Amino acid sequence: MVGVLLARQGVEVLVLEKHADFLRDFRGDTIHPSTQELMYELGWLDDFQQIPHSKMEQVTVSMAGNLVTFADFRKLKVHCPYIAFMPQWDFLDFLVTKGKTFPSFRLLQSTEVRELLVEEGRVVGVRATAVDGPLEVRADLVIAADGRDSICRAQSGMETISNAPFIDVLWFRVSRKDNDKVAFFQSGKGVLVVINRGNYWQVAYVIPSRAFAEVRAAGLAEFHTRVAALAPALGDRMHEIDSWDQVHQLTVRVDRLKTWHRPGLLCIGDAAHAMSPAGGVGINLAVQDAVATANILGPKLRVNTLNDSDLSRVQARRELPTRITQKFQVAVLRDLYPKDLHDDTARHTPPIFTAFRLLPPLRHAMGRFIGLGIRQEHISN
Ligand SMILES: Cc1cc2nc3c(=O)[nH]c(=O)nc-3n(C[C@H](O)[C@H](O)[C@H](O)COP(=O)(O)OP(=O)(O)OC[C@H]3O[C@@H](n4cnc5c(N)ncnc54)[C@H](O)[C@@H]3O)c2cc1C
Repeated sequence: MVGVLLARQGVEVLVLEKHADFLRDFRGDTIHPSTQELMYELGWLDDFQQIPHSKMEQVTVSMAGNLVTFADFRKLKVHCPYIAFMPQWDFLDFLVTKGKTFPSFRLLQSTEVRELLVEEGRVVGVRATAVDGPLEVRADLVIAADGRDSICRAQSGMETISNAPFIDVLWFRVSRKDNDKVAFFQSGKGVLVVINRGNYWQVAYVIPSRAFAEVRAAGLAEFHTRVAALAPALGDRMHEIDSWDQVHQLTVRVDRLKTWHRPGLLCIGDAAHAMSPAGGVGINLAVQDAVATANILGPKLRVNTLNDSDLSRVQARRELPTRITQKFQVAVLRDLYPKDLHDDTARHTPPIFTAFRLLPPLRHAMGRFIGLGIRQEHISN
């Protein structure tokens, strides 16, 4: 996103992506109202809407069989007051198509950054492995948007502030029928989140951190039973999972860098602040970082007047939204998730969920928080 926005401003951009395509299964699929509003501001909304997606106007969760609406987007004053569920690879392919309309945008796939190039304490580029061998790239600025396992972050020596991990996710898919009745989020003996991906359900079974060994030891039949207890509609096809190879453990982390930059290098998105899936807000935050970066740094990069101090303006703008969102993921949503594998999560529903049931304005406020985030960014150049 930041590459496309900078190229749109006429800045020379080279995006390095380690994979050959964007076809990762392990990404969230949520395109928030704020991101869709950016599509509108860019004049790309009609094209965006051609990509197959489903719409969620409210987030309704099932707590031990009782439905509670947790966030309502319908009153947001935006062009698309809903979350669009769209496979993230489709969205990233879309961004690349837009990026390629700008002469200064270049993308190299199958190109993995291995090392920061540092000269006299300043990051001046990266060393990468490309399809045809090693590659050295020199740049006025390296923007590390390489996710929560960021190699740029690891090599930068910048200090990380971490929260203890509290959940992991078991990620698998089962076939979907059009008349399936499955709530997006179910809580009970465990927690299950399901994403409609057309002919299959992408399922996230949330477990306490590091509990996968225990789940495996109990066997596949027990796993089928656990999932079916949360989502009975899926019970008749859990047999499709006949090997643990079909169940991927995704480890979840919440952390952030104390300082997001050093001379020549800026970290954004999960590289600056790893987000948990709780609340489905990590993608939103990463996109907002990208917009703030392009707004603040684009005009300077274009005329070659970027100073190291400009990098701190990006952090100054985006740090507060990050801290509040992470507090929300850890302090408020922690109670939604299982403490151990026998935990009935519906028994310790955070009190705020009772308030959601009784007070519709709270649902709209949560819709605003999740859908637009704190300090909503707009395209300014
Ligand atoms: C299990 C799980 C589920 C989640 N579900 C949701 C959700 O539904 N909604 C939501 O909003 N958030 C969700 N999140 C959080 C969300 O995934 C992240 O906050 C978000 O993806 C961050 O975006 P990013 O662009 O910073 O990093 P990423 O999406 O991780 O992208 C990093 C990119 O950099 C590339 N890369 C990595 N290393 C290198 C390298 N060395 N060289 C070149 N390229 C490299 C990767 O291939 C990738 O394309 C979830 C998180 C987890 C752990």
